[in-house]
Amino acid sequence: MAVPAHTKTHPVADELAQLLFEGADRERVHGAWRRLVSGKEFAYRPGLPPEERTALSYERLQLLNDAAGDPVELAADPYRLAGLHEWTGPVDGGLTTLASIHYNLFLGSVLDHDGGRDRDLSAFTSLRRTGTFLCTELEHGNDVASMETVAVFDRATGGFHLTTPTPGARKFMPNTSLTGGPKTAVVAARLVVDGEDQGTFLFLTPLSDESGHLPGVRIRPLPQRTGTPVDHCLTSFDRVWLPREALLEAEHGRLGADGTLASTLGNRRKRLLRSINRVTMGKLCMSAGTLGMSRAALTIAVRYAHSRLLAGPKAGDRIPLAAHRSHHGRLLHALATAYAMTFLHRSLVSRFAVHAEEDRAEVEREVAVAKGWITWQARAITTECRERCGAQGLFPANGLSDLPLNIEGGITAEGDNLVIWVKAASEMVFGHQGVRAGESGDPEGRELTELPFLRGLLAEAERIWQDRARTALREGPSGDPVGRWNATSDAALEMVSAHARLQAADAFLAAATRAEDPRAGFLMRSLCRLFLLRQLGEHTGDLLAEGRLTPDHVRALPKAVDTVVGELAPHLMTLVDAFDLPAEVLSGIPIASGGSVGADEGGDEDENGWEEAEVGAGVSVRV
Ligand SMILES: Cc1cc2nc3c(=O)[nH]c(=O)nc-3n(C[C@H](O)[C@H](O)[C@H](O)COP(=O)(O)OP(=O)(O)OC[C@H]3O[C@@H](n4cnc5c(N)ncnc54)[C@H](O)[C@@H]3O)c2cc1C
Repeated sequence: MAVPAHTKTHPVADELAQLLFEGADRERVHGAWRRLVSGKEFAYRPGLPPEERTALSYERLQLLNDAAGDPVELAADPYRLAGLHEWTGPVDGGLTTLASIHYNLFLGSVLDHDGGRDRDLSAFTSLRRTGTFLCTELEHGNDVASMETVAVFDRATGGFHLTTPTPGARKFMPNTSLTGGPKTAVVAARLVVDGEDQGTFLFLTPLSDESGHLPGVRIRPLPQRTGTPVDHCLTSFDRVWLPREALLEAEHGRLGADGTLASTLGNRRKRLLRSINRVTMGKLCMSAGTLGMSRAALTIAVRYAHSRLLAGPKAGDRIPLAAHRSHHGRLLHALATAYAMTFLHRSLVSRFAVHAEEDRAEVEREVAVAKGWITWQARAITTECRERCGAQGLFPANGLSDLPLNIEGGITAEGDNLVIWVKAASEMVFGHQGVRAGESGDPEGRELTELPFLRGLLAEAERIWQDRARTALREGPSGDPVGRWNATSDAALEMVSAHARLQAADAFLAAATRAEDPRAGFLMRSLCRLFLLRQLGEHTGDLLAEGRLTPDHVRALPKAVDTVVGELAPHLMTLVDAFDLPAEVLSGIPIASGGSVGADEGGDEDENGWEEAEVGAGVSVRV
């Protein structure tokens, strides 16, 4: 069965797409990016060596900038920034990294400090200069608070000398090569006044111009890494002089002409966190990129599941892969998770966009928890999708094989997943109030089809792990903070994991209530039920022991999962059509459009009227 790229969308898929892509705001948030990646300039280019792939990502950054509208407005708009990552993520991971750094970490940081909009930003908004963000050091990644780079206040000129004092303090990973043209950085460095460390601030630092790197700026390219190539480098500074206005100031630190620092924050660590506060938006960006990749991977795998035929039960029968429970069941679990990830992300971008100062700590924590959960799920989903497409899934032309490797970057960048979960866990053991024991109600007479019941059980699971973590912390060895936390952290991390899923379930349930078409509502509720049942599987022992589930519920759970999978199986294509991947993108991916890598070459028409067209390197698509 051939699956054309240009599927006529179904009204139910349209309504699901409206729910997934933010209803009335859909065109503003997603429209430009979706059109951009539909362009032929974004089609897969086979056989490019790594340096040329990196150069291509910079060329595409120019096209993206042309489509972005006002880049200053973009950098200030969390919805559109996240949307950008969702659409570029699946087509060019390198471009997504470059855009994330330029618009969010670089331009966003400049704008978030005093007089950001008053500076002449035209070189950056026109992309005559690409912005980079230099924070991590070779020996200081997650413990960036120990960074060593210094900017020493120079009383004679009123400026600063930027210096890398040790080899371990070289800035690690940023894209500071000459590829892509001249670059400027915001560099995180300790502000030193008269020998005294005032905390870490950002310094606007030109790195290169048309003739090469500037004096005192030393760049060493890093070797190629896995995933889409980017020009990662080691960067160091040898007493590079910077003018007074290079220091990005705000309420956390303003330097007087006499060298006195006025700050609302007495604590140096807090000054660092304020300086690099764009990293919170960065977490939303990383999650968004991997969301887009998950939805694209599922679209490809589900389409292939319908076009790949295999022997049926009777001699001569041919049935699609999608007919098998072992196949569509796994894809449906992944689909339910991808819907939940999307709704969780939407709810957090909205919270982040409007949060008040007193809610900042909680919103930042929720963003970190979601980043960890979404990017880890994305890795699992894209790996599953690759595997469900067999050897075809291993060819980059089929759009799947690069995705898990690109997601690795999102798992580590902008806060390593495990580290940010550990931080959230330590705050939530006592600083977060979930449900009280028994709040989910008496389980007798309740059905595993009732969404509020399932949701209540997941909340109980979070509470059970929180209780365990609290007990462990209270009973841990006194006078040994590391030993105490070691006794607590496993339970606390389970609590965070349950919390992330609960937040996702709540966002999914809320979205389901917005469905108007009864068929869309049915699909949303069924998919949400599948998601919740799946999350509860690992907690049944605890829930039974605590009297929140009955033995009959536990016995009935596998059948309940199988029933909802069976109900959803006929709707797989509708569920991925709602992801709205452009036909132009799908038609360039052989297995998403009824073709395959290595299929017959030439331009013959087959009996179904599909014309095979070779697009290079043994890749043909049906058009
Ligand atoms: C694709 C990509 C792009 C990047 N771009 C930039 C960029 O533009 N600018 C920039 O400044 N940086 C950039 N980085 C660097 C990134 O910020 C760091 O990789 C990240 O902060 C982690 O640091 P690290 O790699 O040194 O790991 P480490 O900090 O060495 O962590 C290694 C391991 O130790 C564990 N660990 C660390 N601390 C703790 C702890 N306290 N408790 C328990 N376990 C711990 C971690 O979980 C991890 O498993 C980029 C990274 C990637 C992957």
